[in-house]
Amino acid sequence: MRNVVIIGSGPAGLTAALYTARANLSPLVIEGLDAGGQLMLTTEVDNFPGFRDGIMGPDLMANMRAQAERFGAEIKQGRVSAVTVTGSTITVTTDQGPIETTSLIIATGATAKLLGLPNERALMGHGVSTCATCDGFFFRGKPIAVVGGGDSALEEANFLTRFASKVTLIHRRDTLRASKIMQDKAFKNPKIEFEWDSEVLDVKDAAQGVVSAIVTRNLKTGVTKEIPVDGVFVAIGHTPNTSLFTGLLETDANGYLLTKDGSKTSVPGVFACGDVQDHIYRQAITAAGSGCMAALDAERYLEHLGQ
Ligand code: NAP
Repeated sequence: MRNVVIIGSGPAGLTAALYTARANLSPLVIEGLDAGGQLMLTTEVDNFPGFRDGIMGPDLMANMRAQAERFGAEIKQGRVSAVTVTGSTITVTTDQGPIETTSLIIATGATAKLLGLPNERALMGHGVSTCATCDGFFFRGKPIAVVGGGDSALEEANFLTRFASKVTLIHRRDTLRASKIMQDKAFKNPKIEFEWDSEVLDVKDAAQGVVSAIVTRNLKTGVTKEIPVDGVFVAIGHTPNTSLFTGLLETDANGYLLTKDGSKTSVPGVFACGDVQDHIYRQAITAAGSGCMAALDAERYLEHLGQ
């Protein structure tokens, strides 16, 4: 029987691991298939305090992991297929068998949303991407499109101008959702063009197995247009990774876990932190902060049980 199991290894999960390890609770982190979380897909992180000159996302995650391990956190790869609760025992079923624990910290994060076009899936990894950092390099000197109007879309568009000959940003409205500073940066970038009030109808050319163009429709005029591009980056937001907890834990209408009094979920002994329970702030620093809260809440819960 474990004291604490943590599912997820982004800033929230690893901060929870650091704190519970330092509290001598010997946490086990199940890091999942996308170890390190969304920061593994980012370049420069300039807004994590303490790094005056910025730090690369993957480096920040490697540091967090090493710091948690220094205090004895055990980190295992694995896929969790079920979580059940019987009395005060929580069973986490993984591909390597069941693990019993007295407390559970959920830090499973959120996953990039897709447009839902059939060819988008068919061409994923063949010109369609949700990760500019991972795939931008492949589009050196080529025209590409970015879909979305939030901070993610603008950050990706700006980043991709390092490689692409031109970036067309396709947004379904005529005003951006992104922060003013990101908008200013994008408007000043001569390589970024805006396709306003437009939805994406199709990505071509699935038959050839490569992206050759994106088909858009102007929502005000109804005019359709084919824009030749070699790549399409979809940056339209995220879905919380909560399907494992359906029927067990309370969520909001969008599937984000509901927490109260800090990180407490609707089941005693189960705590949640990071993007899986936060659709508002979604920052590395807020995720890390909520990971700390979950660790302290789990520690108090175990103390209360006399463990
Ligand atoms: P977001 O703010 O939810 O923006 C999603 C964008 O995609 C919106 O412009 C939305 O259009 C569009 N969209 C959604 N579904 C769509 C669909 N089916 N078809 C076409 N367009 C669609 O998501 P985000 O940009 O990923 O940002 C999430 C959070 O992370 C925000 O709080 C953001 O500030 C933060 N963030 C911060 C930074 C940074 O500070 N450096 C970087 C990235 C993200 P509408 O505007 O019309 O709804």
